[in-house]
Amino acid sequence: MEQTKKCPSCGGTMIFQPGFNYMRCQSCGHKEMIPELVSKIPVKEMDFLTAQNTASHDWGMEAKVVTCKQCGAETIQNRLQLSGLCPFCGSTTVETADPSQDIMAPDGIIPFKITEKRAFYIFKDWIKDRFLASELLAENAQLNKFYGIYVPLFTFDVLTENRFTGHYSENGRTLLRCGKFRHQVDDFPVVASKQLASDKLLLNVIKDYRTKEAKPYTPDALAGFPCEHYSIGLSEAWNSVGPDMDFYLRNQACKQNETRYLKGLDMTTEYFDLKYKYLIVPVWINSFFYDNKLYTIVINGQTGKIDGQWPKSFGTFAKKAALFFLESFGLNQYGY
Ligand SMILES: [Zn+2]
Ligand SMILES: [Zn+2]
Repeated sequence: MEQTKKCPSCGGTMIFQPGFNYMRCQSCGHKEMIPELVSKIPVKEMDFLTAQNTASHDWGMEAKVVTCKQCGAETIQNRLQLSGLCPFCGSTTVETADPSQDIMAPDGIIPFKITEKRAFYIFKDWIKDRFLASELLAENAQLNKFYGIYVPLFTFDVLTENRFTGHYSENGRTLLRCGKFRHQVDDFPVVASKQLASDKLLLNVIKDYRTKEAKPYTPDALAGFPCEHYSIGLSEAWNSVGPDMDFYLRNQACKQNETRYLKGLDMTTEYFDLKYKYLIVPVWINSFFYDNKLYTIVINGQTGKIDGQWPKSFGTFAKKAALFFLESFGLNQYGY
């Protein structure tokens, strides 16, 4: 959702200021503090089993769902907001609809810390040694613009009971050991955006949040920024943790004395007392087309971590154009 808020002194548009805890009027500079962002109250953990009944559906404003016809991304925006660009692919072809009854509203928000200007510096540094960096930057206007957007992230708290078997060596003999340990998992992140979860590089950036710094949800921190609606539901998100959770718990097992020196560790896990938080978290996104392929670069709006896709070679179109040029001058020394 992109929130529109009118300035109380001049009627201008108020926009949330990354790095600060207030909104600022675009016309007269009037500032308004956002109390939720200075609050010391932690974001409430929600019980997973009763989630369907207790999750909030109140976005704190009149919301609408905007769907991009090119890439399928869904964002939630203020009903008063005119639909703009799709932040994922730059398309202007979008369709709006009413949000369905069961779209949960976020429990918490991590506000933008990184400004757009800072994001651009981070980006320039990241591309400086890459293929055709300055040429593409000069040619492609879209590359010079980052879009700020909030994306959905579920975090899970769960008590795990792990049973393990493994082998160890003693006096030249191999012996079997089995046992169990408990471990409380805290704020295990699962990205709820199909657009971003499909790419490992982007996923690394989106998992890099300090979730303890999340604040209670407020639509004011969205003033000027759209928010992606989750495309991976709560149950689907929890069901997808398997391999990641397994990897994480095996790392925990290595920190336990009983399992530290075991080889061929085999582990089964039972989960208890599952809780979740639905957070929206800030990213700066830059997407551009090169040779008909969409490239996406994302910057974590809280930590500044950057990653994404970048062309590695001349596209087929550029190659054909170059060949045509070489051939028409009889210069094709490449043996094509
Ligand atoms: Zn004003
Ligand atoms: Zn799109």
